[in-house]
Amino acid sequence: MARNLGIDLGTTNSCISYLDGAKTAIIPTNEGSRIIPSVVSINREKQHVFGQVARRQLLSNSRDTIWGIKRLMGRKFQSPEIQAFRRQVAYEIVEATNGDAHVRFAGRVRSPEEISGIFLDYLHRLAREYLNEEIADTVITVPAFFNDAQRQSTKTAAHLAGLKVSRIINEPTAALIAYNEQLNRDGLYAVYDLGGGTFDISIVEFKEEIFKVRSTIGDTFLGGSDFDARVIDWIVQTASEELQQSLKPDDQTHQRIAQAAEKAKIELSHHEEALVTIPYLMHRSGNEAYHFQRKLTRTELEHATSNLVERTIGLVQRALDEINVPAAEIEQVILVGGQSRMPLVSRRLNELFGKPPQSKLNPEEVVAKGAALQSEILRGRVKDLLLLDVTPLSLGVEAKGDKFEKIIERNSTIPLKRSRVFTTINDNQQVVKINVLQGERELASENRSLGEFTLVGIPLAPKGIPQIDVGFEIDANGIVKVSAKDKQTGITQSMKIQPASGLSPEEIERIVEESNRFREQDMQRLHLTQLRENLERETETVRFFLENHTEKIDLAGQSEIRSLLGKVAKALQGEDAALLSRLLERVQKQRNRINSQLMSEFES
Ligand code: AMP
Repeated sequence: MARNLGIDLGTTNSCISYLDGAKTAIIPTNEGSRIIPSVVSINREKQHVFGQVARRQLLSNSRDTIWGIKRLMGRKFQSPEIQAFRRQVAYEIVEATNGDAHVRFAGRVRSPEEISGIFLDYLHRLAREYLNEEIADTVITVPAFFNDAQRQSTKTAAHLAGLKVSRIINEPTAALIAYNEQLNRDGLYAVYDLGGGTFDISIVEFKEEIFKVRSTIGDTFLGGSDFDARVIDWIVQTASEELQQSLKPDDQTHQRIAQAAEKAKIELSHHEEALVTIPYLMHRSGNEAYHFQRKLTRTELEHATSNLVERTIGLVQRALDEINVPAAEIEQVILVGGQSRMPLVSRRLNELFGKPPQSKLNPEEVVAKGAALQSEILRGRVKDLLLLDVTPLSLGVEAKGDKFEKIIERNSTIPLKRSRVFTTINDNQQVVKINVLQGERELASENRSLGEFTLVGIPLAPKGIPQIDVGFEIDANGIVKVSAKDKQTGITQSMKIQPASGLSPEEIERIVEESNRFREQDMQRLHLTQLRENLERETETVRFFLENHTEKIDLAGQSEIRSLLGKVAKALQGEDAALLSRLLERVQKQRNRINSQLMSEFES
């Protein structure tokens, strides 16, 4: 079978994921890199080059090396964002006849969709070659703030790359999907995404399996490269001091400094100190080589970049304020984007939210992984995946009259525990049967029985007196334990079941749909069963009186009761609810008469 893909099409970097068995995996480039710079360039042979290879040409072929194309998607040339971005890039951004921002690449004006399409085509090829399979559907992620035009542009780009897009989803939502096993309850989640060039904070509501972005704020010019710039400044300043002359690096030197700066910055996420070494940084007067070598500490880096982190924290606060939600109400904070690995980020978020942020999954891969999961959920191959955190269908037991007594409603978040007290339906009943059911229908017999067990040894008592506590317990893996306990004696019986197995999302949908369709009909049948039971019970009393106290009823009365009992017996064979209900009324009248007769005898 052809594979599905999840693609995180990032401003700085992209990532491709797919499902390998039950787990998400990443498709590496031929150079073994799991993260692919979103860069397209052209080499001397006039062939397109991509990713790391293209990025290396940023200096040598700057006018034909397109990076950050995502910033141009669906945007007008005259917009302030594009005007600001133009100053940062060496390639040419031009105004198309319709006012859109286009670029000049390899001598031709191209739309951002075309450039993105060329890049996505490369990702498509990488995936096909790596998996040695055709690609079926793809889910692509976009920032939550992307408008329709930007989403449409992304789709067009994918289409140009020959990819079939089954859905475009929001990046923060994808990150949460990847964390689905840990989303053990409905609530609000914060996704903090600090990438190479952009920052986004989104507050996402997860409710009844549905994700809804409640607020999202971004700064399209705040990311890892700003952190790098602070380290670059430090290197230039330190070198200038050592050289006692101001260092004015040319492009090539600047590139080497930038690489050393990023390397040190990343190292300081894991170590307290980093040694920044740039051999042959320049020549001193007298042609003496100058090698830069200085220690940079984490504290120094934090000091130099703390206002950048504070800017993100300010935006997080704004995103919360916009929906009037205090930070403490957020269930979890999820980290996305390479720069979010900086320890200062975690510390500040911990201070704000009162809980450490989640970074169990690689922040640079988590969005692609979520997209891959979503692509498989859409084709129904990932069973119960999103539903794992909730019970996909209601659970309960069979009660008197074929009634399904729900104890756990569908979509309840797990793990959970619920119980309900039941009683016996017959006098001196010593055994109760617990039939564990799953489904949405009102009638027990129309639902799926997951198994049954009996509780034996209930002490002799009139019906309705014993108290049987039926408890359901579902653990985080969806395993259900059902127990029944006689409260008086403490006798307990239980069984374990795994109810969700084998149900695809489609099956669940069908079951829910059927329950809605049959609700009316089920209720009628339930009503009929209850009517019958009541009628049988009331008739029994009247018959008992007739047979045992015949002398107390006059002849006319006797024949009236007999004829009524005959009609009842016949009606009980049929399904005429109106007739049964009329007869029940008549039988009840007889019983009331007998009751009052007995009462007056007793009083007299
Ligand atoms: P992304 O766009 O999500 O791939 O993020 C790329 C940015 O994350 C770049 O600026 C990297 O320098 C930065 N980055 C990657 N790993 C780390 C790390 N361990 N600590 C700090 N920044 C990092």
